[in-house]
Amino acid sequence: MTDMQTIRAFVDGRFLPASDTLPIYDPGTGEEIARLAECTADDVDLAIIGAQAAFDAGWRRTSAAQRADLLNAFADTIARHRDELAAIESRDTGKPLRQAYVDADFAARYFRYYANTVEALLGDVIPASTDRLTFTMREPFGVTGHIIPWNYPLGLGTRTIAPSLAAGNCCVLKPAEDASMSCVRLAELAIEAGFPAGVLNVVTGRGATVGAALSGHPGIRRVSFTGSVPVGIAVAQAAAQNLVPADLELGGKSANVVFADADLDVAAPAIAQSILQNAGQTCSAGSRLLVDERVHDELLARLVTIFEGTTVGVGLDDPGIGPLISARQRDRVLGYIETGRGEADLVIGGGVPEGVPAGGYFVAPTIFDGVADDATIAREEIFGPVLTVGSFRDEEGAIAAANSSQYGLVAGVWTADAGRALRMVRDLQVGQVLVNTFSNGVELPFSGRKRSGYGLEKGFEALRAFTQTKAAVVMMQGS
Ligand code: NAP
Ligand code: MG
Repeated sequence: MTDMQTIRAFVDGRFLPASDTLPIYDPGTGEEIARLAECTADDVDLAIIGAQAAFDAGWRRTSAAQRADLLNAFADTIARHRDELAAIESRDTGKPLRQAYVDADFAARYFRYYANTVEALLGDVIPASTDRLTFTMREPFGVTGHIIPWNYPLGLGTRTIAPSLAAGNCCVLKPAEDASMSCVRLAELAIEAGFPAGVLNVVTGRGATVGAALSGHPGIRRVSFTGSVPVGIAVAQAAAQNLVPADLELGGKSANVVFADADLDVAAPAIAQSILQNAGQTCSAGSRLLVDERVHDELLARLVTIFEGTTVGVGLDDPGIGPLISARQRDRVLGYIETGRGEADLVIGGGVPEGVPAGGYFVAPTIFDGVADDATIAREEIFGPVLTVGSFRDEEGAIAAANSSQYGLVAGVWTADAGRALRMVRDLQVGQVLVNTFSNGVELPFSGRKRSGYGLEKGFEALRAFTQTKAAVVMMQGS
């Protein structure tokens, strides 16, 4: 065990020594593959002091153009290390290798996007009076704290730090204990790309200690949290003690709403992908299918065929789906499947698949049909490869079913009728509506409704969110 690699926090341009460590497991086998430094509240202090020093020493005076150059250099660096980052991510999280490549490419794309857009972040000149200039400018907050979950460390880590760095903040990022490897490597690569030490710091360890220390630290001026509802509430409360704003990107139970006129050739594979991607461990997973009863049987038959043909295996072997992140998460999902058996009809899957390594955290692709809107498996986020299917008669019923959720992150709508598509965009209580597709890009603002939180990620709006407005009046003397 002594020769095992220890993934250590990266603070102020160097790795911190680690006195205590935690195990890192391979989700495909359950074997320990490395150790993770367990940071203390003192380490979090060091990271924030380093970040503030980097901000004061010069980062706060960089121009948007200088930062854009660095962001582009970082994107190039990530692209150069694409194979390495994808392999780390696949091994650490268990996700299929091709998905890890998608995530690595997204990581580069976030920096590229904010490099492209940061110079368009303008203030206003306000026509208040002719004897003075009244204007606003957008300023960074200073040091921002970022807490992310384990499902897409590269994707979610870069999603939150790229706009913050672009806006001129220095960042302290805390990845999840279950998947921290790629984020630590990213911080190291930021130095290779030319970022000054201290601009991007990564602290590792447990949420209850490191995450809590970060979110409640008076040196942090804005907190961005992605994760579960209860922890999000705790993070927002801790930030509120310091009068610091917190963005909360929380869970989801997103619906795909399929009308009878939908093109099922396009819809069926996209709906399957929306729940099977990352083994269902995606905040915006299309975990609830609501289908017009006239096409219910046909769509279900197509989905069963796709689920049957989906291989399950170790991430680096690039199967259809990989394992879940941890034994705990697998047991939680299996628990929901047991609940589902008493609430609805199990169509396919429903347990641990055959032919996978015994120690891995696998769950078979699973479909429940005849799921009522108020069933536990339709209401609660399962965060596994489990699709629930319910049906509706008309548009009104479809909207009511889709909006019955406590969550409101994303909705997919499948129809050939443009008027109906627009009515659905208007009436669905979610932050993003995707019509005849379930994919979105980095350019599209992403924010929740209801218990999905009130974060503002992605797009130009995230860049604005990481700045605050300063207003000024300058009298024209002598006029
Ligand atoms: P979680 O328990 O809320 O953990 C998220 C992060 O918070 C982790 O880094 C965790 O650290 C940390 N944390 C735990 N306790 C903390 C505390 N008391 N104070 C501060 N930080 C703390 O979430 P999860 O169960 O790992 O992740 C799954 C959830 O995230 C799902 O509900 C999913 O929908 C949501 N999610 C949302 C989005 C989105 O964009 N809306 C994206 C992905 C996931 P440790 O893991 O080290 O304890
Ligand atoms: Mg791991």
